[in-house]
Formats: sequence, C-alpha cells, structure tokens
Amino acid sequence: MTAPNIETIVSLAKRRGFVFPASEIYGGLGSSWDYGSLGVELANNIKRSWWRWLVHERDDIEGLDSSIIQNRLVWQYSGHEATFSDPLVDCRACKGRFRLDKLQDVNCPKDPAHHAGSGKDCDLTEPREFNLMFRTTVGAISSDEDESALAYLRPETAQGIFINFKNVLDTSRRKLPFGIAQIGKAFRNEVTPGNFIFRTREFEQMEMEYFCRPEDAPRIHQEFIDGFLEWFDSLGISRENLKLYEQTKEELAHYAERTVDILYRFFPERDDEEKQFDELMGIANRTDFDLKTHSKKPEDREGKRLNSDSTDDLSYFDPQTNERFYPYVIEPAVGVNRTLLAVLMDAYTEKTNEKGEVRVILKLKPELAPIKVAVLPLAKNKPEIVALAKQLKKDLLPLMRTVYDDTGGIGKLYARQDEIGTPFCVTVDHESLEDNSVTVRDRDTWEQERINISELKKYLQERLSR
Ligand code: ATP
Repeated sequence: MTAPNIETIVSLAKRRGFVFPASEIYGGLGSSWDYGSLGVELANNIKRSWWRWLVHERDDIEGLDSSIIQNRLVWQYSGHEATFSDPLVDCRACKGRFRLDKLQDVNCPKDPAHHAGSGKDCDLTEPREFNLMFRTTVGAISSDEDESALAYLRPETAQGIFINFKNVLDTSRRKLPFGIAQIGKAFRNEVTPGNFIFRTREFEQMEMEYFCRPEDAPRIHQEFIDGFLEWFDSLGISRENLKLYEQTKEELAHYAERTVDILYRFFPERDDEEKQFDELMGIANRTDFDLKTHSKKPEDREGKRLNSDSTDDLSYFDPQTNERFYPYVIEPAVGVNRTLLAVLMDAYTEKTNEKGEVRVILKLKPELAPIKVAVLPLAKNKPEIVALAKQLKKDLLPLMRTVYDDTGGIGKLYARQDEIGTPFCVTVDHESLEDNSVTVRDRDTWEQERINISELKKYLQERLSR
C-alpha cells in the first residue's frame, strides 16, 4: 500500500521529525519547510544515491557545485529575465492572486466548493506575466533601487553548469558525449506554492546536463528516460505510481525539441485518475540553445553578435571529424523534495498487530533509511545489558548508521523504529549476557531471529545490501 494522501505524510513527518513548518513560532512563512533530524538524513541518502549512480558508477559524468548568485548577465542570456514568468490573475471579489494555469489546484477562498476562478462571485483580471526570480542586491549599495547591483537567486542549477562547460571540458580532458551533474538549492517566487514540500519557493534540484552530438541526442534522451525509471525503482517507488508524460508542442519550452516528464501519483485521493499524477521530474532535449546563447561568436543575419557580453565561445571541436559545433544537451532535472515526498508516500504502510492496533511501517529501502539499525536494551536498569547494547552500537556504527535507544518499553521502541523506517532492531536481554546472542527483529515481517553477536555484523550487512 501507499499513503492515502499527502496529509498523512505531513502528520507523520511532523510527529517523527522528518519535516517541520518553517518559522513556526512566528506563524510560519507560506510553504516553507525545515528538515528535521530524520528528514535531513533521508534527503542526504537520496542525493547520495543520485550522485553515486550518475557521477561515480558511470565513467562519463563530472560533478560540479556552482554559485547560487551569478552575474546577472547569465539570466539575461539564458532567457530567464525576459521569460521565466507565470501568468498571474487577481480576483476582484476575494482579492486572491492565482496562477492562471493552476487554478484547478486551489479552491476559491470565498466558495471553497469550487476552484479559484469558478466560484459564484469570482471576477478575474486579465492575466499578466509575473517573473519568478528572487531579486537581491550585491555589495554595499546606497539604494535598493540601484539596478547596477541587481542580482538573482538562481531559479535552477542548470545555468551554472552551462557557463562552466569549457572549464570542465578543458580540465577533465573529456570528449563528447559527457555530462556534468550538480545538486543544489534553487529559488522561485511561486505564485501558488503548496501541497507540503511538493511546491515551495526554496527547494533543491539534482540536475545533469549531458552534452552530445546532435544526431545522438534522441537516442541518449530515451536512454535517460528509461534509466530514471529504473533509478526510481531502486528507491522503492512502484512503477504503477509513475507515469510518463510527453509535453505537447504548445507546452515545450522554445529551445526544447522534446521533453518527457516523469509524473508520480502525489494525489491518490482524487477521483479522476488523470489528476492523481503530477510532475516528479522533467527530461528535456534542450538542443544547442544553452551553449550557443552563452557564446560570443554566434551572429544574427545582419552579422551582429547575439551575445555581446560573453568573453568565450562554448563550441566543441571534434578532432576526429575536424568539425566545430555547439553540442546538444539532454537534461534530466529532478527535485530532491518531490523525490523525498514520493519515497515517503510509497513506503507508507499500515499493519494491524495481534491486539488489533494499527501500526505504521515505513518500508524504506535500506539504502535510504535514515537509521539502519537500532540497538535496544530490554532492561535499562541493568547496567550489564545497557553496557553491552552501547558496545554493540559502537561496533556497528562504522559500517551502518546505528542508534542506541532506551527511551521506552520495547513495544513502543519497536513501533517508533517501524514508523521511521529502521530496517532492523537489535534487542539485548538478560540471556544475551549468558549466550552472547541478541534478538534481531525485521521491520517488515516483525519476525525475530536469535543471532550470535560474532555473526551480527555479517548478518545485518548482508540483509541491508539486498
Ligand atoms: P512545475 O511545472 O511543477 O512548476 P517545472 O516544470 O517548472 O515544474 P523544472 O523547471 O523542470 O520544473 O524543474 C525540474 C524539477 O525541479 C521539477 O520536476 C521538480 O521536481 C523540481 N521543482 C521545480 N519547481 C519546484 C518547486 N517550486 N518546489 C519543489 N520542487 C520544484
């Protein structure tokens, strides 16, 4: 089973310390969230999995970590200053402000049975474009109006990759095809954020730009679409909750030749099956637009430079064919936060115990689980038992994230670890002191096995890597 709705995850996340509302003691800040001790571990494990899969396991992708604040010209030539905007409408009746293409995602504040814009008194203005980039100023300036100091918080990590194309190419001595991967924060002043961590104004992206010859782009594009479905499978996200969506000609960004979104069933409670799905990631064939637009050489028909500010040319010289050209780019772009939400929803399971009580089990893949093993003393007033349990924690820790917990009775401790997705609990009891064995309890089956301490590491390692 999966979570019946996002609300179930919101309450679990708050109860157990995965995600908290940001600035809560000051009344919150619309759609901002903080990751707690378990949330930050889960997010780190997702990022590590992505990085290992792309940067470490493959031999054709380099890593990068570029600045959040770049020269404003980056956003001028990428097109973001002119076009990175959403159509905004105001309602004269309720004074609400909505994104025209997402009206069905919010209810009318005055008539909640209807979507915004379709309530009985709704009176929408004509749409106008609202730029989503957060503005800031750089340096000691005299006035906030000083345009020369204007800068933006990046709305995507991708541009940091394009402007470093030549740096990476020259220092890594790569030949096409190759990719550059980056994980980092991005910021968008979304008109209608919401649905927990699905859409926030500050979020994290994992983006990879794969540079190739134009004629290879369609094949490579398809390989990454298939590859990402497999990666989501490795994270425990079931295929039946994923769907591919081919963007229509009207939806495609002006520079994109083809874009396929991978959608996840974030809204299983909706009656209309189609509306249950929303974007988890996008995989685009961006053609040669990006490298060209940041290059100094390309000219228009009248021979005027298209980019009069760039100091370099980001074309590629192929020594085998003696050709110089701008590589095509395949871009798989995935959100950390949306992946984390999908992972939590898919792992959520309820199970009834022999007393008829409903327990929550988070069936996270061991690779993603914030804690792999919890060592629990059956009696915390018995110093020998506590000492052995603490020793076991210490012994296991270098190999797997292990915690020691004695904050409740054993039933409560098991329930807590189930709910936060810990694959194994190791219980130390009176007999352990005699027979040098412990009880290992499996999160998913609740089965218990007696294991000799000398075998414990191997036993756990073997099961955690399955
Ligand atoms: P949407 O249509 O949902 O606004 P998008 O198509 O603009 O998303 P991209 O620019 O393709 O998104 O960004 C790549 C990925 O970054 C998205 O698939 C999503 O996982 C994540 N993402 C984008 N905007 C947000 C946001 N406001 N909050 C959380 N994640 C986001």
